[in-house]
Amino acid sequence: MLTCKQFLQELNDFLDDTLDPKQKAELQRHVTECPNCWVVYDTTEKTIKVFKGMEPQAVPQHIQARLMEAIEKKCHSRRAAASEKLDA
Ligand SMILES: [Zn+2]
Repeated sequence: MLTCKQFLQELNDFLDDTLDPKQKAELQRHVTECPNCWVVYDTTEKTIKVFKGMEPQAVPQHIQARLMEAIEKKCHSRRAAASEKLDA
């Protein structure tokens, strides 16, 4: 099972369609199970489409970093108790 962090790290490749079919399937499953990442995925995909209207371009690094930060905060606050052992 992917973590949100892993998902976000692979998101660019996922949207560029450069992942292995296996990885792609895992990311696809994560968006169906994780509302937070689905929102990021959906927003990023739309952003990329807008950019691609001008020229091919990945999501700017600073935007990706900010999204990742926001998601991590959400996941941590929600699962703080349960994931303490895993984070150690
Ligand atoms: Zn997630």
